[in-house]
Amino acid sequence: MTNDKRLIWFKGDIIPVNEAKINVLSPTSQFGANVFEGLRAYWNDADKELYVFKLEEHISRLLKSIKMMRFECEYDFDFLKRSVIEIIKANEYQEDIAIRQTVFLDGFGSWASTSPIDMFIAPIAKGRQYPPEHIGIECCVSSWERINDKSMSPKIKMGANYINSRMGQMEAMRNGYDSTIFLNDQGKVSEGPGSCIFIVRSGQLITPPVTASILESITRTTILDIARNDLGLVVVERDIDRTELYIADEMFLCGTAVEIVPVIGVDRLEVGNSVKGIITASIEKLYFDIVRSISGKHRSWLTPIYKR
Ligand code: PMP
Repeated sequence: MTNDKRLIWFKGDIIPVNEAKINVLSPTSQFGANVFEGLRAYWNDADKELYVFKLEEHISRLLKSIKMMRFECEYDFDFLKRSVIEIIKANEYQEDIAIRQTVFLDGFGSWASTSPIDMFIAPIAKGRQYPPEHIGIECCVSSWERINDKSMSPKIKMGANYINSRMGQMEAMRNGYDSTIFLNDQGKVSEGPGSCIFIVRSGQLITPPVTASILESITRTTILDIARNDLGLVVVERDIDRTELYIADEMFLCGTAVEIVPVIGVDRLEVGNSVKGIITASIEKLYFDIVRSISGKHRSWLTPIYKR
């Protein structure tokens, strides 16, 4: 850490990451009172360009989280967007990266304070989560219920929500699984600890609705769009029962960080034939071609950083 020369955007300055200091008594540090986005940018060597995927959608969601948390800050859309571009450029990355943009409750206040608000933006080098030949992960259904809109809304992408994710992920790993799938307070399938879920049944691509105690995931929206409009698949947003996980033909988790990861087993029951399904593979291929600007499709979803 002490040799980390990586630059981050911190309270308006560009500084080495190990020089950033946050008050230990701040509500962000004590109670997780912060909202954030996890973004990715993909390097295209032929173009010599780094493309941020769906930057504007991430900024819009961050502003919604700020609003729901009633944070008092002046950050507007252009400033939030410009700052992300500025810090990626300052690091001169020529590889795939992940970016964390966090707006946090600073100062000496309590969990009910609404100011002062500050921000950091930290890019790090990060390649694909799983190589294309990776066949998939084993999940369990969590014994923990997903947080819901009556208590802590999963729609607010706030730090404290991830304690629910932590409980589920730790339980899964203790029991020898790679990850977990939460049910919501209605007993229906909700999402993973940091991802949304899709299943395939009889050729239909199915995902829980945004009211199923999920984050309004940007990857989920992207997949719904390309599955319908580019791949011509039948796509359905509806509640999913736990036992449908046991009889699904295919399944995958999706999110900016995990990208698209096939699930080949749930609660030690095989999904399909425990191999990556055909529909999953076709969505995965198109997704990676789009994010890296190889397919030529949906260029408006990409923000080039260097514009050479
Ligand atoms: N659900 C949760 C709980 C998440 O943390 C994430 C990752 N941000 C997702 C879903 C996927 O969201 P996105 O596709 O916008 O990254």
